[in-house]
Amino acid sequence: MSGPFEVRLLSLVVPCYNESQSIGNFFDCVIPVLESIDALRFEIVLVNDGSSDDTLDKLITFSHRDARVRVVDLTRNFGKEAALTAGLDEALGDAVIPIDADLQDPPSLIPELVMRWREGAEVVLAQRSSRACDSWLKRVTADAYYRIHNKLSDQKLPVNVGDFRLMDRVVINALKQMPERRRFMKGLFAWVGFNTVIVPYEREPRIAGESKFSGWRLWNLALEGITSFSTLPLRSWTYLGSAIALLAFLYGTFIVLRTMVFGVDVPGYASVLSLLLFFGGVQLIGLGVVGEYIGRIYDEAKGRPIYLVKRRYQETRPQGGVSGGRKVVRLASAKRG
Ligand code: UDP
Ligand code: MG
Repeated sequence: MSGPFEVRLLSLVVPCYNESQSIGNFFDCVIPVLESIDALRFEIVLVNDGSSDDTLDKLITFSHRDARVRVVDLTRNFGKEAALTAGLDEALGDAVIPIDADLQDPPSLIPELVMRWREGAEVVLAQRSSRACDSWLKRVTADAYYRIHNKLSDQKLPVNVGDFRLMDRVVINALKQMPERRRFMKGLFAWVGFNTVIVPYEREPRIAGESKFSGWRLWNLALEGITSFSTLPLRSWTYLGSAIALLAFLYGTFIVLRTMVFGVDVPGYASVLSLLLFFGGVQLIGLGVVGEYIGRIYDEAKGRPIYLVKRRYQETRPQGGVSGGRKVVRLASAKRG
């Protein structure tokens, strides 16, 4: 596809939410790595996901210094999945790599991802070889989650693979065709398929600041993943309901026969009450599951945009510096003067 003289463009997409403490280190690490790869131009798309600290100011400063860096400022915090979607929409590269701002996804792996891409892979997954830097609880729950998700849904998630990966332009274009509002990116990435290879790496602890994913946010992400990619929880009520109805029928028959043989037997308050409570609980769970899905339908039906861009920042003069010209992005401006 690419001739020997065609220099292709790589886009790095970085969602940033209150990353003031890590972003400087991020640039120090990532720029030399990208510059070391030959016959490759690059751009860095920074998405400011409604940070409440001075992240945006820092990002803008970087974009003024370096014409290959641009900033997309969202109107508020839309969450990582939406910020990532914004970045993928804005990226112009022949290949795109989403990467976290906290250096947990090692930039040193990028040359290898690019190498595999040049060898013909359309998706190059970076897979953590261990979760040693995560807490015991996170390891166990993540493990259980992957197992449950992959049992329930048709699209298997590769284990221990995050958003850090390289995707060819054809994959990005496929992703852009997916209209859903509620976006579970890992799942969408898996859904599109394409020719995929895996590169293992060791995940480091965060360099600065703290994780934005609390237990509750992770739980919601997990629910999002399952309800996005499986309707089994919804359909399972048919089977559970049938099984319970069958048991009830058998029990009913048993009571009728017993009454016919032994006569009328009034006591039974305890068994009636416990059955009543049990079925009440089962019905409420069923309603809850149906509610999850109706909520999703409601969200999709509203058809709101996934994110809103407040403003884009980019240095239009290649040398950077004095006036700090800002402009909506053009491909040529990603070139380094
Ligand atoms: N992030 C974001 N919006 C959010 C939460 C997180 O853009 O609402 C970004 C964050 O700045 C970082 C990446 O997503 O670049 C991963 O976040 P974090 O490191 O907190 O997650 P963890 O590594 O703990 O899973
Ligand atoms: Mg992190």
